[in-house]
Amino acid sequence: MPELPEVEAAARIARRAVVGRAIAAVDVLHPSIARRWTLAERRRCRGRRISAVTRRGKSQLLHLDDGCILVVHFRLDGDWVVDAAGEPLPSFARFAIRCTDGRRLVLTDPRALSTVTVHTPAAPPTFALGPEADDPTLTAAELGARLAGRRTAIKQALLDQRILAGLGNIYAAEALWRARLDPRRRVGTLEASEVARLLRGIRAALADGVAHLGRYRTGTRTAPWRVYDRAGSPCRRCRTQIAILTQGGRTTYWCPGCQH
Ligand SMILES: [Zn+2]
Repeated sequence: MPELPEVEAAARIARRAVVGRAIAAVDVLHPSIARRWTLAERRRCRGRRISAVTRRGKSQLLHLDDGCILVVHFRLDGDWVVDAAGEPLPSFARFAIRCTDGRRLVLTDPRALSTVTVHTPAAPPTFALGPEADDPTLTAAELGARLAGRRTAIKQALLDQRILAGLGNIYAAEALWRARLDPRRRVGTLEASEVARLLRGIRAALADGVAHLGRYRTGTRTAPWRVYDRAGSPCRRCRTQIAILTQGGRTTYWCPGCQH
């Protein structure tokens, strides 16, 4: 499941590929996406210029110059391929935007779980999401307030997109290791100084992820994880063996030596 750094990397690819270009046509190539699009919506996109590509949580938003927004969610395996109209479509092509200058942005997805929806200015997309995990204006006090009163374990709270948007299983573990916090801690027990440490840990883990993702590729992440996927290996900070536990059906990697 792509997390914030992977989606951000994908959004950058789309941004470089199509922002400022005009759409010649959108090609809806798979029934799972086609059933969300009317013919009128496809026609409406023609001739529109793509003014910006932004990200909200794990969704990419392609803003058109008439106020419409295409919302793309890669789910598990989606990816972008940038090529030229007229070339054979890449394998597992599900959706494509052909630009008037011949540039083509193709969504590929072997499992065809990705979604693309179009929203008019009258009915903009809504997201039941908390603030972005990498929002530089987010303060420790705000994060503390969002966590306050909850009895869940801190690791599970970090996966709850309504509290904070963008973290998944990998970066939640990485952030908690950097913050030296036990993933089983109840969020209500965190002191203000620990919430501040947590926020710094989240930012550092995400910044590291973004820096190591030249581009988004499922399954070939190159980021050197501090704790994720390192069960049995020595902790990079205290040399204790990294342990695993299961929380809410998800595997959590953590260091019993230095995460308290
Ligand atoms: Zn350790």
